[in-house]
Amino acid sequence: MSGQNNSFDAIIIGAGFSGLYQLHALRDELKLNTLTIESGGDLGGTWFWNRYPGARCDSESHSYCYMFSEEIYKEWEWSERYPGPKEIRSYLNFVAEKLNLRRNILFNTLVTKARFIESNNKWEVTTQEGDIYHATYLITGIGCISSANIPNIPGLEDFKGKWYHTGNWPHEDVSFKNKRVGQIGTGSTGIQAAPEIAETAGHLHVFQRTPNYSVPARNAPLSEAFKKQVHDSYEEIKKTVRSTPNGHPFKISEKNVFETSEEERKKIYEEAWKKGGLQFRATYQDLTTNKKANDTAADFLKDKIKTIVRDKTTAQALANIDYPYAGKRPPIDTNYFETFNRENVTLVDLKRETIVKITEGGIQTSARHIPLDMIVFATGFDAITGKFLEMDIQGRNGLKLSEAWKEGPKTYLGLQTPGFPNMFSITGPGSPSVLCNMPVPIEQHVEWITDCISHMRQEGIDTCEASQDAANEWVNHVNEAANATLLVSVPHSWYLGANVEGKPRVFMPYAGGMTRYRALCDDVVKNNYAGFVMLSKNSSNSIKKNGPKHNFDITKKITTPGI
Ligand code: NAP
Repeated sequence: MSGQNNSFDAIIIGAGFSGLYQLHALRDELKLNTLTIESGGDLGGTWFWNRYPGARCDSESHSYCYMFSEEIYKEWEWSERYPGPKEIRSYLNFVAEKLNLRRNILFNTLVTKARFIESNNKWEVTTQEGDIYHATYLITGIGCISSANIPNIPGLEDFKGKWYHTGNWPHEDVSFKNKRVGQIGTGSTGIQAAPEIAETAGHLHVFQRTPNYSVPARNAPLSEAFKKQVHDSYEEIKKTVRSTPNGHPFKISEKNVFETSEEERKKIYEEAWKKGGLQFRATYQDLTTNKKANDTAADFLKDKIKTIVRDKTTAQALANIDYPYAGKRPPIDTNYFETFNRENVTLVDLKRETIVKITEGGIQTSARHIPLDMIVFATGFDAITGKFLEMDIQGRNGLKLSEAWKEGPKTYLGLQTPGFPNMFSITGPGSPSVLCNMPVPIEQHVEWITDCISHMRQEGIDTCEASQDAANEWVNHVNEAANATLLVSVPHSWYLGANVEGKPRVFMPYAGGMTRYRALCDDVVKNNYAGFVMLSKNSSNSIKKNGPKHNFDITKKITTPGI
């Protein structure tokens, strides 16, 4: 495991989808001495931590996997339309075994600090135990939604019952049997968790601050015929996920909403509702760019809520949604709205009463005290930047990442931050990341980073660093892309960092779509790594200037952003 004197060519932080593929690419393709450091006790990343009841991936299993190896793709068989955490962990274990990855991973090891040492162009990485490792390249594969957000509600320390955050769920079973459970949060996670908790809880109170749209997932076991078809269609599926803006295995319709009659539209929405899943978003191309078009989908979904939920007041509160469909990450569910027809489930509408405090025995709202034995925080994450900033990362001249990102993250292509040479990020801020089916941007980033490092080594380049100009230009383009969509119109969205107190309000993922992003990244390479400063300390001749300024031409209108 150890390199000489704990020195490595590359250190990767994280052993989820990103870190595992990056380890394989650097170790087996570039033959680099590579170490992966993972805080969890095993591989899986997000899926190591997220074991809450009902947890399931919203991407369809045949696309929520690696595509870089046909052999791996065809050897693995998914059992359900959407995989759960256990099956995803089994899949990642299978990949790790197949590629013999475990031998280069340090588990149960938290990176607390990473410092760039200019005298030798090395990264010094420190763990919580105080161990120190050095490497030329530092790659973060730390996930986008990995830093749990526990809201600052007064009194939590007084609570005598048990409480959990969905993103840090215990590995042993949690029993809700006969318990009075309070669940705070109705995002993608809460919508998955509530129906499962309600199955066994004595009573479940769902505390809803912002109601949410949701479309049935229609999860089901995969038929033998479908499994075969998936294996036989590897090339086609790969082509599709790599050519759609959101990396899902279905095309977004090229139709605009008002090109179809109301009658036809209803039929299209109804079919998508029956089919289930994120494909609902793909019914029209202008759903996330045209508010009037979006209203038609929003109204359809609100009507569905009112049809499903029998109690009128509850239905009204659930359907009282004042932002566009898919403006926030669109959840998909299994019996979420139906759950509110159960005798043992009550919606607490926080638009009518607010949470005042947590008490020894429950939650005090502005209207009443709700006695509880357990509280489940389905309250989301300090997304995208949270995990980065939990570490003390210092670049050139001791520049702290927290300082560089004080006004919001500033990266070039989401891959690098000026002042932090040789530090690359997989699905960092400014990448399409969470607006896509994650394995697709992950594979693209890993392959881009691997090619870049390979280029550096072939050319004798010591450091690669995003230029400030290029990063400024990219941040402008990320904003421009977001502003072309309805996603910026949702004030409480975590895409904007709005769910965490004090976090700068900056739209973090790139909404221009994965297809456009991939083409831009390819173009940067063709233009001699335009926007990256590449330096070699041994010869001033080999100092590469910035490539030509890149033109992020968005004259071609963004009609189909990710999601
Ligand atoms: P989220 O979307 O941020 O939702 C958090 C929920 O907690 C929101 O309803 C929020 O209300 C509520 N909340 C936060 N603080 C609160 C407070 N102080 N009082 C009352 N309510 C509060 O988080 P998430 O549901 O965990 O989902 C995060 C992301 O993870 C998703 O968008 C998705 O990208 C990913 N995810 C994916 C899957 C999947 O693929 N299967 C599953 C789950 C999650 P407000 O809206 O008012 O802030």
